[in-house]
Amino acid sequence: MLRLTELKLPLDHSSEALPAAVLARLGIPEADLLDLRVFRRGYDARKKSAILLIYTLDLTVRNEAAVLARFTQDPHVGRSPDTTYRFVGHATPDETRRPLVIGAGPCGLLAGLVLAQMGFRPIILERGKVVRERTKDTWGLWRRSELNPESNVQFGEGGAGTFSDGKLYSQIKDPQHHGRKVLEEFVRAGAPEEILSVSKPHIGTFRLVTMVEHMRASIEALGGEYRFSSKVTDLLIETREGARQVCGVALEDGKVIEADHVVLAIGHSARDTVTMLAKRGVYLEAKPFSVGMRIEHPQGMIDRCRFGDFAGNKTLGAADYKLVHHAKNGRTVYSFCMCPGGTVVAAASEPGRVVTNGMSQYSRAERNANAALVVGIEPRDYPGGADAGSLAGIELQRRLEEAAFRAGGGDYRAPAQLVGDFLEGRPSYALGEVIPSYKPGVTLTDLGALLPGYAVEAIREAIPAFDRQLRGYARPDAVMTGLETRTSSPVRVKRGADGHSLNTRGLFPAGEGAGYAGGILSAGVDGIKTAEAVARSLLGMEHTT
Ligand code: FAD
Repeated sequence: MLRLTELKLPLDHSSEALPAAVLARLGIPEADLLDLRVFRRGYDARKKSAILLIYTLDLTVRNEAAVLARFTQDPHVGRSPDTTYRFVGHATPDETRRPLVIGAGPCGLLAGLVLAQMGFRPIILERGKVVRERTKDTWGLWRRSELNPESNVQFGEGGAGTFSDGKLYSQIKDPQHHGRKVLEEFVRAGAPEEILSVSKPHIGTFRLVTMVEHMRASIEALGGEYRFSSKVTDLLIETREGARQVCGVALEDGKVIEADHVVLAIGHSARDTVTMLAKRGVYLEAKPFSVGMRIEHPQGMIDRCRFGDFAGNKTLGAADYKLVHHAKNGRTVYSFCMCPGGTVVAAASEPGRVVTNGMSQYSRAERNANAALVVGIEPRDYPGGADAGSLAGIELQRRLEEAAFRAGGGDYRAPAQLVGDFLEGRPSYALGEVIPSYKPGVTLTDLGALLPGYAVEAIREAIPAFDRQLRGYARPDAVMTGLETRTSSPVRVKRGADGHSLNTRGLFPAGEGAGYAGGILSAGVDGIKTAEAVARSLLGMEHTT
């Protein structure tokens, strides 16, 4: 197969225009084009009056070698890469050792699925509930201000991304095309097929719920097993040949499960589990993360800024944005996890704390666009400074979330402020045209009083700069709701090139909680890599290159 990249056509081109453009570009007759598949379709909206669709195509042509020979100097014509997924090995029929996977988020799901596909019959331990029951508990916080600390937007089947926009793109390097395997498994589980070919695919919340159920069915059909409401509260470690080796886990109900291969895919919110790991001497490091708030604007305004007269065009969908500003005080402010046509959601998992995040449905049809507006912070900013230990970032997150809870009124409403007031440094008292979407509701106040001074200073500088890129971004009645504290894990559970924890063999730290992923797709990719590391260890084929 031949791959043609960067083929540009006008946004409103006809269906015949695509093959016609291919024939013209390759200089071949119609009869020589045997098959055409869109591998990726993106757009270039830099010139709003002439928005272009940009295609990456996989083509089957007659006399492929001759065609390729004519384009040896052309970087946009070449052989299609082989993206077929190949397992590193398979369990023998008499294999009795069953790996444990802690966490049923995207990382744990993909790790569990690939281990099951290789015949290792994993046991997946999830502290939360099955996804349908979890959905009710999550809505309990949004509708009735009732937080269940074990079943919420962070914890339960599907992990943190289940109630989300379901954006499925990532900037990770992926030379082995593991991302393709993740997307193909999602499609098999019911995701729309278009996620394989649009450049910024998204699924939305409702479909994610069904997909997660289908993936469970696949894992179980392959001999895997799920145990819900099974919080791992301890890690059993023994010394073998002078080295620390995992030999099992203990659950909250006192049960012990023996295993010498344990995938740790706990996400970034399992602070109690990370504290347990620290007590057990597992190697951890503090890492940078970001803090800030969500900002909401009318989606129509963002669509017009990005697409001009093409705002509302079905092919383009609701517009997103990505903004970065390097502030004079040395901090970087950036938009994060932008949710077009979505809502700001309550994302707390601990009582007495408020955290924001964003989600949307597949249609992205809600009134507001929202995105986190966050500032990067470093271990030196944590309480006690850079030497304060691996858990100091968690301490900072907790303090910020508690301050947000109090400022919101102590009942899970979130503190909010209008952009105009934030820029002027005064509290807000009344909303304008933009109605905040956060449930169970907001309390207008002064967000500037809740965040570290350097973060407030940097965000105040960034908003007018962003307004120069997206006119209206600094409109005085845009609403900011906070605080956004769980942009990534503040801790890294470091592993070696063989996938084992640096100082505890048999423990395979993975995904966002271990500091190896940021988002659904990259967590899934890391789950696959980790399943491969576990398989290599079980099959005695480890290497450390
Ligand atoms: P998680 O998904 O956090 O899964 C960890 C799992 O481990 C959880 O189910 C938890 O219950 C379980 N667990 C934790 N501790 C234990 C224990 N001790 N015992 C047993 N089980 C345990 N990313 C995107 O790419 N696109 C988006 O649109 C997007 N939107 C988001 C919207 C929201 C509201 C949130 C909260 C996150 C969003 N994210 C999004 C981020 C994304 O969800 C995460 O990056 C991703 O889920 C990380 O995957 P993970 O498997 O590493 O961890």
